[in-house]
Amino acid sequence: MKKLVSIILMTLMACGIVFANGNKETKSKFIGVAMPTQSSERWVDDGNNMKKQLEALGYKVDLQYAEDVVENQISQLENMITKGVDALVIASIDGEALTGVLEKAAEQNIPVIAYDRLIKNSDYVSYYATFDNFKVGVQQGSFIVKSLGLDKGEKGPFNIELFGGSPDDNNAYFFYDGAMSVLEPYLLDGSLVIQSKQEGMDKCATLRWDGATAQARMDNILTAYYASGETVDAILSPYDGISIGVLSSVKNIGYGSSDLPLPIITGQDAEVASVKSIILGEQTHTVFKDTRTLAAVAVSMVEALLTGSTPEINDTKTYFNGKKVVPSYLCEPISVDITNYKKVLIDDSAYYTMDQLK
Ligand code: BGC
Repeated sequence: MKKLVSIILMTLMACGIVFANGNKETKSKFIGVAMPTQSSERWVDDGNNMKKQLEALGYKVDLQYAEDVVENQISQLENMITKGVDALVIASIDGEALTGVLEKAAEQNIPVIAYDRLIKNSDYVSYYATFDNFKVGVQQGSFIVKSLGLDKGEKGPFNIELFGGSPDDNNAYFFYDGAMSVLEPYLLDGSLVIQSKQEGMDKCATLRWDGATAQARMDNILTAYYASGETVDAILSPYDGISIGVLSSVKNIGYGSSDLPLPIITGQDAEVASVKSIILGEQTHTVFKDTRTLAAVAVSMVEALLTGSTPEINDTKTYFNGKKVVPSYLCEPISVDITNYKKVLIDDSAYYTMDQLK
């Protein structure tokens, strides 16, 4: 009997399973973290947070950025699979382009966590860590409604132009739909007017969330629809980089004076340049999504998967990826403007110091 027990023990140890300390085996595991781009601060923060938090738990981490080139991200993932990672955490560039590489991960039994952006058309997405993306859009739309006084009965009519995010990012549709759920009644009753008539993600999307692309589209809209004295009063922007681009466009033709005030411009991610712009009274709004919290959720999913427990989730119905509803954990976004940026970003969360925003 004694012999049998020691044989079993030795076999388990040879397989690397040290059950006396469930964590011990996990600690040496290797996690591939694929991020989209370093051109936007939020993803730099996300990557750093993931690396830091995983390493603090003893994991080895391969963190890669693909600079918004889909093929780069695919080959980075292929490399990680070849190197033998134990789990993949992926913030995709094109959510529809990873079906093939995820099949390769599945062949090696590597679990995949979709980080912030849903990976579409694959059975092999284990879990999804994100924010309440529809709510982000609702916060952007509501900010416009409140700022124009539409909720208090103001009838305008006010001119608005709409910008959407990247059409290959599932989040972009959630942001747009969330915002439109709030704006639609005012478009229908005529208190909001889209002079360009450009409405819907097919017309308003901004490939790769590129600020320069948005700026060029805004330039065209201003030339074509605002050349006879019309003024644009509000701009729905889904992301700070787009907001900054659109701001340049309107400033270039003279917005920003007392005769021609800047329009209300929403945003997302509370990036430093945009918070500074809010402090200066230019961009009017952003949405703070604490990347430290999101990383903690993704890390706890990794831990659970690799130790055989069940990750905590709070949504099992929203994120159908074309193959399955991916079990998700949604974090809370916070609407930020001049009235609360200090409390939200500095005092409550210590996400920034005042010095960083000067
Ligand atoms: C993220 C946003 C971000 C956008 C552009 C989206 O998938 O959820 O936070 O603003 O990508 O990077």
